[in-house]
Amino acid sequence: MTYEAVIGLEIHAQLLTKTKIFCGCSTEFGAPPNTHTCPVCLGMPGVLPVLNRKVVDYTLRMSLATNCTVAHESRFARKNYFYPDLPKGYQISQYELPIAEHGHVFIEVNGEKQRIGITRIHMEEDAGKLTHDPNLPISAVDFNRTGVPLIEIVSEPDMRSPQEAGAYLRQLRAVLRYLEICDGNMEEGSFRCDANVSIRPSGTDTFGTRIELKNMNSFRHVENALTYEIERQKVSIEDGRELVQETRLWDEDKGVTVSMRGKEEAHDYRYFPDPDLLPLVIDEAWIDEVRATLPELPDEKRARFVEAYDIPSYDAEVLTSSRALADYFETCVKQFPEAKTVSNWVMGSILAVLKTENKTIEESPVSPERLAELLRLIDSGVISGKIAKTVFDDMVSTGKAPEAIVREKGLVQVTDTDAISEVVNQVLSEHEQEVTDYKGGKTKLFGFFVGQVMKATRGKANPKIVNELLKKELDA
Ligand code: ADP
Ligand code: MG
Ligand code: ZN
Repeated sequence: MTYEAVIGLEIHAQLLTKTKIFCGCSTEFGAPPNTHTCPVCLGMPGVLPVLNRKVVDYTLRMSLATNCTVAHESRFARKNYFYPDLPKGYQISQYELPIAEHGHVFIEVNGEKQRIGITRIHMEEDAGKLTHDPNLPISAVDFNRTGVPLIEIVSEPDMRSPQEAGAYLRQLRAVLRYLEICDGNMEEGSFRCDANVSIRPSGTDTFGTRIELKNMNSFRHVENALTYEIERQKVSIEDGRELVQETRLWDEDKGVTVSMRGKEEAHDYRYFPDPDLLPLVIDEAWIDEVRATLPELPDEKRARFVEAYDIPSYDAEVLTSSRALADYFETCVKQFPEAKTVSNWVMGSILAVLKTENKTIEESPVSPERLAELLRLIDSGVISGKIAKTVFDDMVSTGKAPEAIVREKGLVQVTDTDAISEVVNQVLSEHEQEVTDYKGGKTKLFGFFVGQVMKATRGKANPKIVNELLKKELDA
C-alpha cells in the first residue's frame, strides 16, 4: 500500500510595528524583562484595549499580497485559557469573523508550479515568555512580548510533501519580508510554524487523522519533523494501531516527535466576541489605499527578471529571494548591462563572501557600483577574468576600488603581441621535448604550453592572444 501525505500549515508572524497591538508599549526586542509593560498588556482590571491602526494596515498588506478577500467587518474574540505567560487569562484573537479569507499563493517544487490555498488570516496578540532555570526550582516570566502583534496565516491542507511545505514557508516569508512587515526570523521566533499532517492511501480523497507538530524553529526542522512524522504514521497504520488526533513536539536532537497533549477543540477555549473592542470596519477606500502602497512582490519580480534580463529562472529565483539582493543586482546591471555576467558574479563571488563573513547584502564589502567597475575592467580587456578573482579578493579585504588595486599591483593585462610573442618563444625553446611530442601527435600538451606562458607572465597575458600565438608557432 502506498500513502500520500496531507499537510496544512499555521504560521504566526510577528509584525514590525513600533508599539503593541492594544497599548502604546514598545515592541523592541531584548529590553530588560518587564520594562515594556503597562496596565493594559498586564491585564489589570478596569483597563481597555485600543487597536493599533498600523497592525490593521500591515495585516491588510499581507491579505492583499496573498490574494485574500478582506472582510468589511471583522471581530476580535477572546480565546480563554490559563497559562502563566498570559496575564489576562485570555488571548485577544479573531475567531468567527477574521479580517481576511480565501487567498492563495503559488509555490514551485521540482519545476512544477502549484497553488496553495490560504484559508484565513487573522490578527492576535502574542503571549509573554517563560524561562525555566535548570538549577533553581523557579520559572521566570517576562511580559515584554505580551501584546506584541501577530498575524496567523492558516493554509488549506494543500501540500503533499515536506518539500512543498518548505517551499510554501519560504514563499510566505519572502512575501512578508518584501512587504517589510515581519523580519521572518525563525530562530528568534518572529516567524513560527505549526504543521498539521495526516496520511491516506494514495488515490483516495478523504482525510486521515491529523497530528499537529510544534517546536520547529528552522526550515530544516519543519522538513525533518514532517518526514519523520509521515513515516511514523505509516508504521502505526500498517501495524494496525489507530492514530489519535494530538499535538506532538519535534525533538531535533533525538530526531523524533513526542506526544505533548491530546488535541484541544475550539469549544475548549470558550471563544466569544470581545466586548471591549468594537467590530473592525474596513471600507473600500482603506483597502485601496493599502493596495496602492504594495511593492512588486517576489513572483512578479522573478518573472520580470527572466523577461527583462534574459536570465535563467533559477538565477531569477535566487536573485529575488530578498528585495535587497534584487536591488543590488539591478543597480549593478544598470552600470554593466551584461545581466548574465552580473548574475554569475552576484550568485557566486558575492554570496560566497556574505556567507563566510556572515553579512547581509546591505553590508556587502563590495558595493554594486564597485562590482560593475570590476566587470568593466574585464570587459575592456584591462585585466583577465582570472586576475579579476584576485582583484575581487583584494576589494573585499581592503575596500579599495578595482582600478586602484590593478594600478598599485601592476595587474594590467598584457595585450602587447610582441611582448607575449617573446615569452611564447622562450617557453617553447625551454621545452624542446614537449614541442617534439606535441608535433608527434600529443596535442593535449597545448594546455601545458598555455599554462607555462601564463605562469611566466604571472597570469597577466591576454589568454586569447596567448592561444593564437601558440597555435601559430606549434601548428606552423
Ligand atoms: P486548529 O486551531 O485546530 O489548529 P486550524 O483551523 O487553526 O485548527 O488549523 C487547521 C490546520 O490543519 C489548517 O492548516 C488545515 O489545512 C490543516 N488540516 C486540517 N485537516 C487536516 C488533515 N486531515 N491533515 C492535515 N492537515 C489538516
Ligand atoms: Mg492550531
Ligand atoms: Zn502595554
